[in-house]
Amino acid sequence: MRAIYLDNNATTSVAPQVYEAMKPFLTEEYGNPSSMHTFGGKIKKNIDSARASVANLIGANDVNEIIFTSCGTESDNTAIIGTLRSYPDKKHIITTKVEHPAVLSLCKYLETQGYRLTYLDVNTDGLLDLNELKSAIGYDTAIISIMHANNETGVLFPIDEIAEIARLRGVVFHTDAVQSTGKINLDMKKIPVDLLSLSGHKLHASKGVAALYVRKGTRFSPFLIGGHQEQGRRGGTENVASIVGLGVACELAKKNMNEEIMRVKNLRDKLEGGIVEKISNVRVNGHKEKRLPNTTNIGFEFIEGESILLKLDEKGIAASSGSACTSGSLMPSHVLRAMGIPFTFIQGSIRFSLSRYNREEDIDYTLEHLPAIIKLLRSISPYSK
Ligand code: PLP
Repeated sequence: MRAIYLDNNATTSVAPQVYEAMKPFLTEEYGNPSSMHTFGGKIKKNIDSARASVANLIGANDVNEIIFTSCGTESDNTAIIGTLRSYPDKKHIITTKVEHPAVLSLCKYLETQGYRLTYLDVNTDGLLDLNELKSAIGYDTAIISIMHANNETGVLFPIDEIAEIARLRGVVFHTDAVQSTGKINLDMKKIPVDLLSLSGHKLHASKGVAALYVRKGTRFSPFLIGGHQEQGRRGGTENVASIVGLGVACELAKKNMNEEIMRVKNLRDKLEGGIVEKISNVRVNGHKEKRLPNTTNIGFEFIEGESILLKLDEKGIAASSGSACTSGSLMPSHVLRAMGIPFTFIQGSIRFSLSRYNREEDIDYTLEHLPAIIKLLRSISPYSK
């Protein structure tokens, strides 16, 4: 059976070059980078070079603006908690209703700890009203945390405009760029973001490694308090092999970025266009242009997303019915609900997310099998007309 992976927003395969680069650090190069001896010193150089590659991918001014962490969730938690610790008198946080649970669940928790939260709305295209953001900012706003690309729909928020609004009002701005880093161009020299989260396993590095960008001059307190690693900004012995791999993954992403954006976008558009043409009662969820080039979220009316996924899986096609973290919960997507998508479409919404390893044959194969799957499921659905 064919194996077609169209779930790259959940996680990506480790690039072969990343794997090769990691291997020595899982075998003979086992030193602790904090050690004084040669074993350790060699390792430290490799971490420094990975840091430079991450900084280069996102256009950071200074390599020391990159802190390695264990996952995107840790980067998000560090950005928010670290800022709150730096501004103990400020008790207001602004975020959106469509953030990943790495931000949203933390914000819900912070509400129980005396913080006041503003959750900004989105419209049916998944876009924000920046006037709503401007009027939400108050004298005690400690941080604005707004994602760059939505993991479920791929919709992009204008982080350049948001960063400018935050800068003018003197509020720290964090963006969760876990889904956009490596997929589209990011330039911290042009966008005055203060804090930015990225995660290795979304860009063909391994799981368990990520980074937080902290602009020079941003007030920062560590989240993981421990040793002096990462210049005292994140305790814990470094995950050396994965950090080295992340460096290589960033170099690969930077190389041919513009060509890859076009190639992947063409495949995504072919898939989306084919589905809309061949299948009735479907809707594309999210703004058509302002979104990642690799993602399409499509609602198939009157059927359950889980049944579609199971039938796709029987054909060797992997997709997703929401974010990997919420899809197990059977709760309809909080993102699509916030967008006001009709319930008959929400329950049958599927996310297809591509990567540089997808080929046209994958799209042809999916388009060959999906219409029959939908037809079959609709024929047995009690909701179908
Ligand atoms: N933020 C976004 C937008 C994500 O899509 C994810 C993962 O799906 C995360 C944060 C969490 O990243 P990690 O899985 O590395 O903790």
